Amino acid sequence: MRLVVIPGDGIGPETVSVAVTALEKAAQQSGVALDLVHEIAGLDSLAKFGTTVRPELIKTIEAADALMMGPMTTHDLHDDANGRINPSKFFRKYFDLYANIRPARTFEGAPIRIKPFDLVVVRENTEGFYADRNMVSGGSEMLVTDDVVVSLRRITRVCCERIARRAFELAMTRRKRVTIVHKANVLKIGDGMFVQTCEAVAREFPDVTVDSVIVDAMMALVVREPERFDVVVTTNMFGDILSDLTAELAGSLGMAASINAADHFAMAQAAHGSAPDIAGQNIANPLSQIGSAAMLLSWYSQRKAKPQYLEVAQRLEAAMVKTIREGKVTRDMGGDLGTDAVGRAFLANL
Ligand code: NAD
Repeated sequence: MRLVVIPGDGIGPETVSVAVTALEKAAQQSGVALDLVHEIAGLDSLAKFGTTVRPELIKTIEAADALMMGPMTTHDLHDDANGRINPSKFFRKYFDLYANIRPARTFEGAPIRIKPFDLVVVRENTEGFYADRNMVSGGSEMLVTDDVVVSLRRITRVCCERIARRAFELAMTRRKRVTIVHKANVLKIGDGMFVQTCEAVAREFPDVTVDSVIVDAMMALVVREPERFDVVVTTNMFGDILSDLTAELAGSLGMAASINAADHFAMAQAAHGSAPDIAGQNIANPLSQIGSAAMLLSWYSQRKAKPQYLEVAQRLEAAMVKTIREGKVTRDMGGDLGTDAVGRAFLANL
Protein backbone atom coordinates (compact mmCIF):
# COMPACT_ATOMS: atom_id res chain seq x y z
CA MET A 1 0.00 0.00 0.00
CA ARG A 2 1.49 3.29 -1.08
CA LEU A 3 0.42 6.02 1.30
CA VAL A 4 1.23 9.72 0.96
CA VAL A 5 1.72 11.36 4.36
CA ILE A 6 1.31 15.12 4.85
CA PRO A 7 1.86 16.51 8.36
CA GLY A 8 -0.43 19.55 7.97
CA ASP A 9 -0.43 22.75 10.02
CA GLY A 10 -0.65 23.60 13.73
CA ILE A 11 -0.70 20.41 15.82
CA GLY A 12 -0.59 18.29 12.62
CA PRO A 13 3.16 17.52 12.62
CA GLU A 14 2.96 16.41 16.28
CA THR A 15 -0.06 14.10 15.88
CA VAL A 16 0.80 12.76 12.42
CA SER A 17 4.31 11.72 13.45
CA VAL A 18 2.88 9.65 16.33
CA ALA A 19 0.33 8.09 13.96
CA VAL A 20 3.03 7.24 11.39
CA THR A 21 5.24 5.53 13.99
CA ALA A 22 2.28 3.52 15.30
CA LEU A 23 1.19 2.58 11.78
CA GLU A 24 4.69 1.46 10.78
CA LYS A 25 5.04 -0.72 13.87
CA ALA A 26 1.58 -2.30 13.49
CA ALA A 27 2.24 -2.98 9.79
CA GLN A 28 5.59 -4.56 10.60
CA GLN A 29 3.95 -6.79 13.23
CA SER A 30 1.46 -8.03 10.64
CA GLY A 31 4.14 -8.40 7.96
CA VAL A 32 2.33 -5.89 5.75
CA ALA A 33 4.22 -3.75 3.24
CA LEU A 34 3.63 -0.02 3.58
CA ASP A 35 5.33 2.39 1.21
CA LEU A 36 5.14 5.81 2.90
CA VAL A 37 5.78 8.86 0.74
CA HIS A 38 6.42 11.95 2.88
CA GLU A 39 5.17 15.21 1.36
CA ILE A 40 4.10 18.67 2.41
CA ALA A 41 1.05 20.86 1.74
CA GLY A 42 -0.55 23.83 3.45
CA LEU A 43 1.39 26.64 5.11
CA ASP A 44 4.78 24.81 4.90
CA SER A 45 4.31 24.42 1.18
CA LEU A 46 3.15 28.02 0.79
CA ALA A 47 6.35 29.24 2.44
CA LYS A 48 8.58 26.91 0.45
CA PHE A 49 6.91 26.77 -2.98
CA GLY A 50 4.52 29.75 -3.00
CA THR A 51 1.47 27.48 -3.09
CA THR A 52 -0.31 25.29 -0.54
CA VAL A 53 -0.92 22.51 -3.11
CA ARG A 54 1.62 22.07 -5.92
CA PRO A 55 0.79 20.26 -9.19
CA GLU A 56 3.60 17.69 -8.59
CA LEU A 57 2.03 16.80 -5.26
CA ILE A 58 -1.25 16.03 -6.98
CA LYS A 59 0.57 13.66 -9.37
CA THR A 60 2.31 11.96 -6.44
CA ILE A 61 -1.00 11.44 -4.68
CA GLU A 62 -2.67 10.17 -7.85
CA ALA A 63 0.01 7.50 -8.08
CA ALA A 64 -0.66 6.37 -4.49
CA ASP A 65 -3.40 4.23 -2.92
CA ALA A 66 -4.39 6.71 -0.23
CA LEU A 67 -3.51 9.88 1.65
CA MET A 68 -3.02 10.56 5.35
CA MET A 69 -3.08 14.26 6.12
CA GLY A 70 -2.91 16.34 9.27
CA PRO A 71 -5.32 19.22 9.88
CA MET A 72 -4.84 22.45 7.95
CA THR A 73 -5.08 26.07 9.00
CA THR A 74 -7.65 27.21 6.47
CA HIS A 75 -9.43 30.32 7.71
CA ASP A 76 -6.88 32.62 5.99
CA LEU A 77 -6.84 30.82 2.64
CA HIS A 78 -9.06 32.83 0.33
CA ASP A 79 -7.25 33.12 -2.96
CA ASP A 80 -6.84 29.92 -5.00
CA ALA A 81 -5.35 31.91 -7.91
CA ASN A 82 -2.43 32.95 -5.70
CA GLY A 83 -1.64 29.50 -4.38
CA ARG A 84 -3.68 29.96 -1.20
CA ILE A 85 -5.79 26.86 -1.71
CA ASN A 86 -7.47 25.08 1.21
CA PRO A 87 -5.82 21.62 0.87
CA SER A 88 -8.59 19.79 2.75
CA LYS A 89 -11.19 21.24 0.40
CA PHE A 90 -8.98 20.69 -2.62
CA PHE A 91 -8.42 16.96 -2.05
CA ARG A 92 -12.03 16.33 -1.13
CA LYS A 93 -13.16 17.95 -4.35
CA TYR A 94 -10.38 16.74 -6.67
CA PHE A 95 -10.69 13.09 -5.60
CA ASP A 96 -14.47 13.36 -5.12
CA LEU A 97 -14.16 12.09 -1.53
CA TYR A 98 -17.90 12.13 -1.05
CA ALA A 99 -18.24 10.17 2.19
CA ASN A 100 -16.87 11.66 5.38
CA ILE A 101 -17.16 8.90 7.98
CA ARG A 102 -16.86 10.14 11.56
CA PRO A 103 -17.33 7.54 14.29
CA ALA A 104 -17.87 8.59 17.90
CA ARG A 105 -17.88 6.05 20.72
CA THR A 106 -17.13 6.11 24.39
CA PHE A 107 -14.15 4.14 25.76
CA GLU A 108 -13.60 2.64 29.18
CA GLY A 109 -11.21 4.98 30.97
CA ALA A 110 -12.10 8.07 28.90
CA PRO A 111 -14.30 10.81 30.35
CA ILE A 112 -17.90 9.79 29.67
CA ARG A 113 -19.83 13.03 29.57
CA ILE A 114 -23.31 11.50 29.65
CA LYS A 115 -23.73 7.82 28.85
CA PRO A 116 -21.86 5.15 26.89
CA PHE A 117 -22.67 5.13 23.17
CA ASP A 118 -21.33 4.06 19.79
CA LEU A 119 -22.46 5.84 16.62
CA VAL A 120 -21.11 6.96 13.26
CA VAL A 121 -21.90 10.21 11.48
CA VAL A 122 -21.90 9.70 7.70
CA ARG A 123 -21.56 13.18 6.24
CA GLU A 124 -21.98 14.15 2.58
CA ASN A 125 -18.65 15.76 1.75
CA THR A 126 -18.83 17.39 -1.67
CA GLU A 127 -21.66 19.94 -1.81
CA GLY A 128 -24.29 21.46 0.51
CA PHE A 129 -23.55 24.79 2.16
CA TYR A 130 -19.80 24.74 1.43
CA ALA A 131 -19.65 27.79 -0.79
CA ASP A 132 -15.99 27.23 -1.70
CA ARG A 133 -16.52 23.82 -3.27
CA ASN A 134 -19.92 23.36 -4.82
CA MET A 135 -19.40 25.23 -8.10
CA VAL A 136 -17.27 24.28 -11.12
CA SER A 137 -16.08 27.86 -11.32
CA GLY A 138 -16.44 30.68 -8.81
CA GLY A 139 -17.81 30.48 -5.30
CA SER A 140 -21.42 30.27 -4.24
CA GLU A 141 -21.20 33.02 -1.64
CA MET A 142 -21.74 36.47 -3.10
CA LEU A 143 -21.53 40.02 -1.83
CA VAL A 144 -24.55 41.55 -3.53
CA THR A 145 -24.05 44.99 -2.00
CA ASP A 146 -21.70 45.98 0.81
CA ASP A 147 -24.44 45.00 3.22
CA VAL A 148 -26.02 41.99 1.52
CA VAL A 149 -24.60 38.47 1.22
CA VAL A 150 -26.19 35.53 -0.58
CA SER A 151 -24.85 32.01 0.06
CA LEU A 152 -26.13 29.17 -2.08
CA ARG A 153 -26.46 25.56 -1.02
CA ARG A 154 -26.22 22.81 -3.61
CA ILE A 155 -28.03 19.47 -3.18
CA THR A 156 -28.04 16.87 -5.96
CA ARG A 157 -29.91 13.59 -6.12
CA VAL A 158 -26.78 11.69 -7.17
CA CYS A 159 -24.85 12.93 -4.10
CA CYS A 160 -27.79 12.17 -1.79
CA GLU A 161 -28.06 8.69 -3.22
CA ARG A 162 -24.40 7.73 -2.96
CA ILE A 163 -24.04 8.98 0.63
CA ALA A 164 -27.26 7.23 1.61
CA ARG A 165 -25.98 3.98 0.13
CA ARG A 166 -22.71 4.26 2.09
CA ALA A 167 -24.69 4.84 5.29
CA PHE A 168 -26.96 1.82 4.75
CA GLU A 169 -24.05 -0.43 3.78
CA LEU A 170 -22.28 0.63 6.96
CA ALA A 171 -25.41 0.04 9.05
CA MET A 172 -25.56 -3.53 7.73
CA THR A 173 -22.16 -4.15 9.36
CA ARG A 174 -23.30 -2.61 12.66
CA ARG A 175 -26.62 -2.46 14.59
CA LYS A 176 -28.72 -2.00 11.41
CA ARG A 177 -30.19 1.35 12.24
CA VAL A 178 -29.99 4.57 10.18
CA THR A 179 -31.17 8.01 11.29
CA ILE A 180 -31.62 10.63 8.57
CA VAL A 181 -30.82 14.11 9.93
CA HIS A 182 -32.18 17.05 7.93
CA LYS A 183 -34.04 20.36 7.95
CA ALA A 184 -36.76 19.46 5.44
CA ASN A 185 -39.34 21.43 7.40
CA VAL A 186 -37.60 24.64 6.19
CA LEU A 187 -35.32 23.57 3.32
CA LYS A 188 -38.31 21.79 1.83
CA ILE A 189 -36.96 21.17 -1.64
CA GLY A 190 -33.26 20.45 -0.97
CA ASP A 191 -33.56 18.54 2.27
CA GLY A 192 -36.89 17.17 1.03
CA MET A 193 -34.94 15.53 -1.80
CA PHE A 194 -32.25 14.34 0.63
CA VAL A 195 -34.84 12.63 2.87
CA GLN A 196 -36.80 11.12 -0.05
CA THR A 197 -33.61 9.79 -1.63
CA CYS A 198 -32.43 8.25 1.65
CA GLU A 199 -35.86 6.64 2.07
CA ALA A 200 -35.70 5.25 -1.47
CA VAL A 201 -32.27 3.72 -0.79
CA ALA A 202 -33.63 2.37 2.51
CA ARG A 203 -36.05 0.16 0.54
CA GLU A 204 -32.99 -1.76 -0.76
CA PHE A 205 -32.06 -2.54 2.86
CA PRO A 206 -35.22 -4.00 4.44
CA ASP A 207 -33.25 -5.26 7.48
CA VAL A 208 -32.27 -1.72 8.47
CA THR A 209 -34.56 0.29 10.75
CA VAL A 210 -34.85 3.90 9.59
CA ASP A 211 -36.01 7.06 11.28
CA SER A 212 -35.52 10.74 10.61
CA VAL A 213 -34.84 13.63 12.96
CA ILE A 214 -34.82 17.38 12.30
CA VAL A 215 -31.29 18.68 12.85
CA ASP A 216 -32.07 21.09 15.69
CA ALA A 217 -33.92 18.38 17.62
CA MET A 218 -30.98 16.07 16.89
CA MET A 219 -28.66 18.33 18.91
CA ALA A 220 -30.89 17.76 21.94
CA LEU A 221 -31.62 14.07 21.32
CA VAL A 222 -27.99 13.07 20.81
CA VAL A 223 -27.14 14.63 24.17
CA ARG A 224 -30.19 13.11 25.88
CA GLU A 225 -30.05 9.60 24.38
CA PRO A 226 -26.82 9.11 22.39
CA GLU A 227 -27.13 5.34 22.79
CA ARG A 228 -30.25 5.42 20.59
CA PHE A 229 -28.20 6.18 17.45
CA ASP A 230 -26.17 3.84 15.26
CA VAL A 231 -25.51 5.33 11.79
CA VAL A 232 -26.53 8.94 11.24
CA VAL A 233 -26.61 10.20 7.65
CA THR A 234 -26.74 13.91 6.90
CA THR A 235 -25.74 16.73 4.58
CA ASN A 236 -22.36 18.44 4.62
CA MET A 237 -22.58 21.27 7.13
CA PHE A 238 -25.01 19.56 9.52
CA GLY A 239 -22.61 16.59 9.59
CA ASP A 240 -19.61 18.82 10.28
CA ILE A 241 -21.31 20.43 13.27
CA LEU A 242 -22.96 17.29 14.62
CA SER A 243 -19.74 15.27 14.48
CA ASP A 244 -17.79 17.75 16.63
CA LEU A 245 -20.59 17.48 19.21
CA THR A 246 -20.63 13.66 19.14
CA ALA A 247 -16.80 13.57 19.36
CA GLU A 248 -16.83 15.74 22.46
CA LEU A 249 -19.68 13.72 24.01
CA ALA A 250 -17.56 10.61 23.44
CA GLY A 251 -14.68 12.11 25.42
CA SER A 252 -12.86 14.73 23.38
CA LEU A 253 -12.60 16.31 19.94
CA GLY A 254 -8.98 15.16 20.21
CA MET A 255 -10.17 11.56 19.72
CA ALA A 256 -12.22 12.36 16.62
CA ALA A 257 -11.05 10.01 13.88
CA SER A 258 -12.33 10.38 10.35
CA ILE A 259 -11.83 9.30 6.76
CA ASN A 260 -12.91 11.04 3.60
CA ALA A 261 -13.66 8.29 1.11
CA ALA A 262 -14.51 7.86 -2.55
CA ASP A 263 -14.94 4.38 -4.02
CA HIS A 264 -11.29 4.07 -5.10
CA PHE A 265 -9.38 6.61 -3.03
CA ALA A 266 -9.51 7.83 0.56
CA MET A 267 -7.89 10.39 2.84
CA ALA A 268 -7.44 9.87 6.56
CA GLN A 269 -7.72 13.17 8.40
CA ALA A 270 -8.85 13.79 11.98
CA ALA A 271 -12.18 15.62 12.26
CA HIS A 272 -10.75 18.58 14.17
CA GLY A 273 -8.76 21.56 12.90
CA SER A 274 -5.14 22.58 13.37
CA ALA A 275 -5.73 23.78 16.98
CA PRO A 276 -3.33 26.75 16.84
CA ASP A 277 -4.10 27.45 20.52
CA ILE A 278 -2.14 24.33 21.57
CA ALA A 279 0.25 23.82 18.64
CA GLY A 280 3.91 23.17 19.44
CA GLN A 281 3.24 22.49 23.14
CA ASN A 282 3.34 18.68 23.07
CA ILE A 283 -0.19 18.48 24.51
CA ALA A 284 -2.26 17.64 21.42
CA ASN A 285 -4.09 14.33 21.50
CA PRO A 286 -2.69 12.04 18.77
CA LEU A 287 -5.49 9.43 19.09
CA SER A 288 -7.66 11.16 16.47
CA GLN A 289 -4.94 10.75 13.87
CA ILE A 290 -4.10 7.17 14.89
CA GLY A 291 -7.81 6.33 14.74
CA SER A 292 -8.03 7.91 11.29
CA ALA A 293 -5.07 5.79 10.14
CA ALA A 294 -6.81 2.65 11.43
CA MET A 295 -9.98 3.60 9.53
CA LEU A 296 -7.95 4.10 6.36
CA LEU A 297 -6.33 0.66 6.61
CA SER A 298 -9.72 -0.89 7.23
CA TRP A 299 -11.16 0.93 4.18
CA TYR A 300 -8.23 -0.23 2.05
CA SER A 301 -8.61 -3.80 3.25
CA GLN A 302 -12.28 -3.84 2.31
CA ARG A 303 -11.83 -2.14 -1.08
CA LYS A 304 -8.93 -4.37 -2.13
CA ALA A 305 -10.16 -7.52 -0.36
CA LYS A 306 -6.82 -7.76 1.49
CA PRO A 307 -7.56 -8.93 5.05
CA GLN A 308 -3.98 -8.37 6.28
CA TYR A 309 -4.61 -4.60 6.23
CA LEU A 310 -7.67 -5.08 8.43
CA GLU A 311 -5.41 -6.88 10.89
CA VAL A 312 -3.18 -3.78 11.07
CA ALA A 313 -6.26 -1.62 11.75
CA GLN A 314 -7.39 -4.03 14.47
CA ARG A 315 -3.97 -3.91 16.14
CA LEU A 316 -4.20 -0.10 16.25
CA GLU A 317 -7.74 -0.22 17.64
CA ALA A 318 -6.78 -2.76 20.33
CA ALA A 319 -3.81 -0.64 21.41
CA MET A 320 -6.09 2.41 21.52
CA VAL A 321 -8.57 0.66 23.83
CA LYS A 322 -5.74 -0.44 26.14
CA THR A 323 -3.98 2.93 26.20
CA ILE A 324 -7.21 4.75 27.06
CA ARG A 325 -8.17 2.15 29.70
CA GLU A 326 -4.77 2.67 31.38
CA GLY A 327 -5.41 6.44 31.47
CA LYS A 328 -2.29 7.12 29.39
CA VAL A 329 -3.90 10.07 27.66
CA THR A 330 -3.53 13.80 27.09
CA ARG A 331 -5.18 16.45 29.23
CA ASP A 332 -8.21 16.95 26.96
CA MET A 333 -9.17 13.41 28.06
CA GLY A 334 -8.39 14.01 31.71
CA GLY A 335 -4.83 12.66 31.60
CA ASP A 336 -1.51 14.35 32.16
CA LEU A 337 0.69 12.91 29.40
CA GLY A 338 2.15 14.83 26.50
CA THR A 339 1.67 13.89 22.84
CA ASP A 340 5.04 12.07 22.73
CA ALA A 341 4.37 10.13 25.93
CA VAL A 342 0.97 8.96 24.67
CA GLY A 343 2.79 7.82 21.52
CA ARG A 344 5.28 5.81 23.60
CA ALA A 345 2.50 4.23 25.70
CA PHE A 346 0.67 3.39 22.49
CA LEU A 347 3.73 1.69 20.99
CA ALA A 348 4.23 -0.31 24.18
CA ASN A 349 0.60 -1.47 23.99
CA LEU A 350 1.00 -2.44 20.36
P1 NAD B 1 -9.99 23.17 16.10
O1 NAD B 1 -10.75 21.92 15.79
O2 NAD B 1 -8.62 23.28 15.57
O3 NAD B 1 -9.92 23.37 17.70
C1 NAD B 1 -11.09 23.44 18.50
C2 NAD B 1 -10.73 23.13 19.96
O4 NAD B 1 -10.40 21.74 20.09
C3 NAD B 1 -9.47 23.90 20.43
O5 NAD B 1 -9.64 24.22 21.77
C4 NAD B 1 -8.34 22.89 20.27
O6 NAD B 1 -7.25 23.12 21.13
C5 NAD B 1 -9.06 21.58 20.57
N1 NAD B 1 -8.44 20.46 19.86
C6 NAD B 1 -8.54 20.19 18.53
N2 NAD B 1 -7.82 19.10 18.23
C7 NAD B 1 -7.26 18.66 19.37
C8 NAD B 1 -6.40 17.56 19.71
N3 NAD B 1 -5.97 16.67 18.80
N4 NAD B 1 -6.00 17.43 21.00
C9 NAD B 1 -6.44 18.29 21.94
N5 NAD B 1 -7.27 19.34 21.70
C10 NAD B 1 -7.66 19.53 20.42
O7 NAD B 1 -10.91 24.39 15.59
P2 NAD B 1 -10.52 25.92 15.31
O8 NAD B 1 -9.60 26.41 16.39
O9 NAD B 1 -11.81 26.57 15.11
O10 NAD B 1 -9.76 25.90 13.93
C11 NAD B 1 -8.35 26.04 13.79
C12 NAD B 1 -7.99 26.03 12.30
O11 NAD B 1 -8.28 24.74 11.75
C13 NAD B 1 -8.77 27.03 11.43
O12 NAD B 1 -7.87 27.59 10.49
C14 NAD B 1 -9.81 26.19 10.73
O13 NAD B 1 -10.20 26.76 9.51
C15 NAD B 1 -9.05 24.90 10.56
N6 NAD B 1 -9.85 23.66 10.39
C16 NAD B 1 -9.32 22.73 9.55
C17 NAD B 1 -9.94 21.53 9.42
C18 NAD B 1 -9.32 20.52 8.50
O14 NAD B 1 -8.18 20.70 8.05
N7 NAD B 1 -9.98 19.41 8.21
C19 NAD B 1 -11.11 21.24 10.15
C20 NAD B 1 -11.61 22.19 11.02
C21 NAD B 1 -10.97 23.41 11.16
